[in-house]
Amino acid sequence: QAKENGRQGYQFFTPTMNVRAVERQFIAEGLRRAIAKDELSLHYQPVIDVRTGEITGAEALTRWTHPARGPIAPDDFIPIAEDSGLIIPIGRWVMREACSEAQRWTDAGLGPITIAVNVSAMEFQDHGFLTGVLGILADTGLDPRRLVIELTESVLMRRVEATAEVLQSLRERGVRVAVDDFGTGYSSLSYLRKFPVDALKIDQSFIRQITTEGRDTTLVTAVIHMARSLKLRVIAEGVENVDELAFLKEHLCDGAQGYLFSRPIPGPQFMALLAASSVHPVQPAVTLT
Ligand code: C2E
Ligand code: MG
Ligand code: MG
Ligand code: MG
Repeated sequence: QAKENGRQGYQFFTPTMNVRAVERQFIAEGLRRAIAKDELSLHYQPVIDVRTGEITGAEALTRWTHPARGPIAPDDFIPIAEDSGLIIPIGRWVMREACSEAQRWTDAGLGPITIAVNVSAMEFQDHGFLTGVLGILADTGLDPRRLVIELTESVLMRRVEATAEVLQSLRERGVRVAVDDFGTGYSSLSYLRKFPVDALKIDQSFIRQITTEGRDTTLVTAVIHMARSLKLRVIAEGVENVDELAFLKEHLCDGAQGYLFSRPIPGPQFMALLAASSVHPVQPAVTLT
């Protein structure tokens, strides 16, 4: 079956069409079937309280296993999903799946922890977004205060009025908003004045050399201070070793996420981690340092 699809796909190949275009088409066609065929799943990566080592939340990250090709990374299919509009149904599926999983943790007495869901610009600006999210919260029974929506800076720079309205409506219900990949988008900070955001997630590219590259040290320290004085939560992404963690602790960063604690893992595994961590705070995975 998959082979046949693959062969059909090659009919589109002409010498003038480059390999990249063929690949994009292959991905887009596969994605179109992925939801119906149950090929998508979510992994969850813990967000750790830097001070206590406790799990305070999880970020839901989409995984796609292509029937013929195996796992395809989000960076290879999310941009294509965005271009093709498929991010709307995919995002809707992700939101529902993530909220019901988080409610499962609460039902198991493992809460309260937050669930963070990545939302692309196109999804957020879709007319059905707000009602969609509210409907999912109602259906799953998840407390809106448990949901965090992760937006990138570029979303907050576009269509300012419409964005502010949706953000306001979400926040009135208790849904929180985090700025993802902070520092990599538009450098204008004006949106921090205009929009009610709750948290900044410092992009992992800054964390990578936090202890070795003087400029990154300065930048991260400054961002943490800025966030704290604006009363925003600040979370470091991509924390991989104990030196980075020690630095973040010393500079009073609130949260951390990264391979040091755990890679993104399937729901049942995350639930087991959560259950274990209510007894002992998460120990950094020393084998990775
Ligand atoms: P992101 O939201 O910034 O997610 C963090 C990425 O960093 C994830 O990659 C995660 O697996 C990875 N990561 C976490 N800790 C570490 C670490 O210690 N070291 C390194 N090297 N990497 C780490 P992933 O899962 O491949 O996702 C990539 C991007 O794809 C995400 O970046 C997000 O922008 C997008 N994405 C993933 N799932 C979804 C989704 O459901 N919807 C949308 N709209 N975008 C998604
Ligand atoms: Mg994210
Ligand atoms: Mg990020
Ligand atoms: Mg990212």
